[in-house]
Amino acid sequence: MPGGISIAAADLMLSPTGAGRDLALYDVASDPGAMRSDRVTALIEIGFVSPDRGLAGWPEGLSMQVRQIALFQLAFSLGAWPAWFNSACSSCGAPVDLRVAVDEFEITPAPGPIPAEIEVEGPSGHVTFRVPTASDERKLESDPTLGLTELCATADLPRAEIDAWEQAFDAGLAKVLPGFEPELPFDCPECGATSGWWFDPIDWIGQHTRQCLAEVDTLARTYGWSEAAILALPEARRHQYLSIIGERR
Ligand SMILES: [Zn+2]
Repeated sequence: MPGGISIAAADLMLSPTGAGRDLALYDVASDPGAMRSDRVTALIEIGFVSPDRGLAGWPEGLSMQVRQIALFQLAFSLGAWPAWFNSACSSCGAPVDLRVAVDEFEITPAPGPIPAEIEVEGPSGHVTFRVPTASDERKLESDPTLGLTELCATADLPRAEIDAWEQAFDAGLAKVLPGFEPELPFDCPECGATSGWWFDPIDWIGQHTRQCLAEVDTLARTYGWSEAAILALPEARRHQYLSIIGERR
């Protein structure tokens, strides 16, 4: 796979910001028709510098966990944080306003290079499992009845042992992958129950790159320039023009 699965999230570097990059991110993030796994691949490819001059589609070779972390990190690099979100208590239904800081999402680095396969000891001996990548993400998305554990096992697992293998596989993955918990718990101010909140990084990326489209629109209307000409302007110059016409402080 281009890029190689050994790449850890910490090895990825955000690509230089700019209007062209923002517009490309916006196009992908705002396209609800495409499969999520393909959008994640495209967003990472646009948002990060390709490691080792990887070929087109290099994020497909990253582990699912690293892809998820990269997507969150890309979202964290856009917009203003801490940010406010609306949620609701899962117990009493009360609306809850959440102020979320980026460092509330705990990310711990992988202990070493991420292997393509791991050996797992389960209820009936040792089985080799693939570490899940984009292709597994796509299969799970296409068929929600599939289970990740069976998908990644290189041998048939007895039906009756699936739960035990799932636990063993999860524990095995935890030893080689970076740690990341995307769900943030919060306590309800009304009833005190604890609920979980899920951040939607693709939605956030779409919201915070849309501004760029609006800026291009403003400049095109005001000066009659083409989109290509506006995107070719250095960032600072584009902002100077926008500030002259009162669109940016
Ligand atoms: Zn409540």
